[in-house]
Amino acid sequence: MSNVLIYVEAENNSAKKTSLEAVSYGATVAQMLGGKAIALATAALAADKTEELAKYGADKVLHAAQNPSQSEEIAQLIVAAAHQENVTVILAAKSIVVDLALPMVGAKLQASVATNITELPELSNGFVVRRSAYSGKAITKVELSGKIKVLSIKKNASELREYHKPLLLEPFSVEITPSKISVKEVKKQTGEVLLSEADIVVSAGRGLKGPENWGMIEELAKVLGAATACSKPVSDMNWRPHHEHVGQTGIKISPNLYIAIGISGAIQHLAGVNASKVIVVINKDPEAPFFKAADYGIVGDAFEVVPKLTQALKAVL
Ligand SMILES: Cc1cc2nc3c(=O)[nH]c(=O)nc-3n(C[C@H](O)[C@H](O)[C@H](O)COP(=O)(O)OP(=O)(O)OC[C@H]3O[C@@H](n4cnc5c(N)ncnc54)[C@H](O)[C@@H]3O)c2cc1C
Repeated sequence: MSNVLIYVEAENNSAKKTSLEAVSYGATVAQMLGGKAIALATAALAADKTEELAKYGADKVLHAAQNPSQSEEIAQLIVAAAHQENVTVILAAKSIVVDLALPMVGAKLQASVATNITELPELSNGFVVRRSAYSGKAITKVELSGKIKVLSIKKNASELREYHKPLLLEPFSVEITPSKISVKEVKKQTGEVLLSEADIVVSAGRGLKGPENWGMIEELAKVLGAATACSKPVSDMNWRPHHEHVGQTGIKISPNLYIAIGISGAIQHLAGVNASKVIVVINKDPEAPFFKAADYGIVGDAFEVVPKLTQALKAVL
């Protein structure tokens, strides 16, 4: 039997939405392989929130007593669970921590590792996955030939599916050797919605003229329950914090909706946002390159369009 192990990250005691997507993805893969989907959560997930993992497809939930924060320690936890459950596929939603932990898991288990997976695997001829490459400008198709496969799943790689399985909760404990790296300081991101997790992102560029004009961007984001983002020059000039910078040299995001306001659409910016499902561009220049990548475009002055859009949305949301 080919079991699938899904590592779950939690925040504020609940599973991250991207991790629930990974559980749902893992449940579908387990179904395709005729095995079980086993979710591995740390103590960061509250016991009364473990039910959600069964809802989204976990046949069993291993609830670890520990809450390791270092990738090296998380890798040890995953490897121990993989041995216990005899799994052939290990996966997790792509994140900064997961990006560091999974290659260590792959090395320890001599597994085939593929990151940034964008779709369910094809199993008709081996184990073939599609992954986003070259800053989202290309999709590569790779075959994983190792006995164990390790995957990081990109946001929106598959639909969040509800399975409503009964919860089978099992405590899990393993002796973890402390990591040789220790974190000295954590700077929490500002903003109510985490950019990397957000379904909707409202982003603005140099067209906004100065940091004092971001009030209308934040208001639009609030009405939509969105995260805020910005172009590189905006963060370089300290108009906005660096963690909001998206693009080739910033965060790469793939929300359901990306609204770009006063951003020209340079190739380096697009590299971080072109995996968004729907792109809306607001720009006063009808020749702005961003319109070529847009699903919907509004040619107009942001200072007129954005407040009207916010008012219109307030009336319906
Ligand atoms: C190696 C390298 C890496 C880079 N990495 C990144 C990256 O990761 N992310 C990134 O964003 N950039 C990156 N850049 C920079 C990139 O090339 C562009 O310079 C940058 O994206 C432009 O930012 P912008 O669109 O905010 O500003 P601008 O290019 O100045 O565009 C401003 C836009 O606002 C519009 N506008 C002006 N006034 C208004 C108004 N009132 N209403 C509506 N629209 C208005 C203008 O028509 C224009 O299209 C990188 C560059 C290099 C060389």
